[in-house]
Amino acid sequence: MKPLTQAQAEILAAVPRLGTDEVPVAEALYRVIAEPAVAAGPVPPFPNSAMDGYAVRSADLTSVPVTLPVNEDVAAGSVPTMDVTPGTVTRIMTGAPMPGGADAVVPVEETESIDRSTVTIRASVGEGTHVRPAGGDVAPGDIVVDAGVRLTARHVAALGGAGITPVVSKVPTVALMSTGDEVVEPDTADLAPGMIRDTNRVLLRGMLTDLGVPFVDLGIIGDDTQELRAAYVHASEVGDIIVSTGGVSMGDFDFVKAILADTGSVDFWRVAMQPGKPFAFGNVSGTPLFGLPGNPVSTFVSFEQFVRPAILSMMGAAKLFRPRIAGVMGEDVQTNDEKEVFLRVLLAEDSNGSFVAVRSGGQGSNILSALAAAEAFAVVPVGVGSLSAGDPVTLEMFTWTENRGIDG
Ligand code: AMP
Ligand code: MG
Repeated sequence: MKPLTQAQAEILAAVPRLGTDEVPVAEALYRVIAEPAVAAGPVPPFPNSAMDGYAVRSADLTSVPVTLPVNEDVAAGSVPTMDVTPGTVTRIMTGAPMPGGADAVVPVEETESIDRSTVTIRASVGEGTHVRPAGGDVAPGDIVVDAGVRLTARHVAALGGAGITPVVSKVPTVALMSTGDEVVEPDTADLAPGMIRDTNRVLLRGMLTDLGVPFVDLGIIGDDTQELRAAYVHASEVGDIIVSTGGVSMGDFDFVKAILADTGSVDFWRVAMQPGKPFAFGNVSGTPLFGLPGNPVSTFVSFEQFVRPAILSMMGAAKLFRPRIAGVMGEDVQTNDEKEVFLRVLLAEDSNGSFVAVRSGGQGSNILSALAAAEAFAVVPVGVGSLSAGDPVTLEMFTWTENRGIDG
């Protein structure tokens, strides 16, 4: 069996790195930025007020309360027409440019204005108080987002604030298909004898959508030589990578191998992982092919361990793998010491704040209910074979979205 990390390394070495595009910030979400985004100018672009209040010369407030004349009002979006000269102030709104001469802002709460032409200030302020200096967020030449980051909403906001049009990687289009004579569309109401509903394509479509990657869904392909060959060739034409499920277990090897013999190459691997041991990797006319096992949980684990990192690598991402955190096993469990085992687990927090993992249900590679309920993998390395309640365990966080209600 091939060690998992070796299989991952071979795949990452084999997939191409895609080219780049310049895209508007509004279209950059989930793209991987290809070059460091360097700020041309300062953010904020000008010194401005952090509060609604009065722009002052702090030296005028050594003795308070003090009543001073108001020069003018400056709102966000307008510019001051007068400097703040000694013994005067300017009424200013949050985000409005600081007038020349002023070095601080007194919040409106610290003042009293009987008529609009004067104000009584009750508190003194130090120089710079409530002033946001030009470049206080980003200075010219600063790197706003470094190369290799997959852009989230927060990143695109930071790029937008700095006026940067990012250079991002192209995104691969994934051609996907399920294979198997027994597989029918998932919304089939009455299953004919021996038929099962296709769970793998909706699973793959969902995971690709989460990744921000487009796909072409080629549907369900029967276990027929001509049909399969045509589907793989078509997939190689419409996709930058091909992801299929099924047909990679021992009995099917020769079949698919023969199909792909004249159009590409495919290697069948037995990867030391569970679920997901049978796996095929190769290419059809140069288009990388990921042949995932047919069992849905194996499909999920294989996608997570091979396809997702490969797609991120093609896009030039610096970080390819899910976050891993330290946790504690909450129950005794026997695994397989020859394989890296990905238990599907639910997490609870103990009184020390540690995450305690218990299996979310049956661990068979067909048990989708337990996968659906799970929050993480508990990763049990090769050579371990069993864990006891209280043992440390590594958790791989494949999903960690909402996990608290209004009660905390
Ligand atoms: P295979 O890899 O084709 O030998 O399939 C392994 C197991 O996964 C068999 O029990 C198949 O019926 C099942 N299977 C294959 N494809 C799918 C699919 N798209 N959805 C759900 N189960 C599948
Ligand atoms: Mg099959």
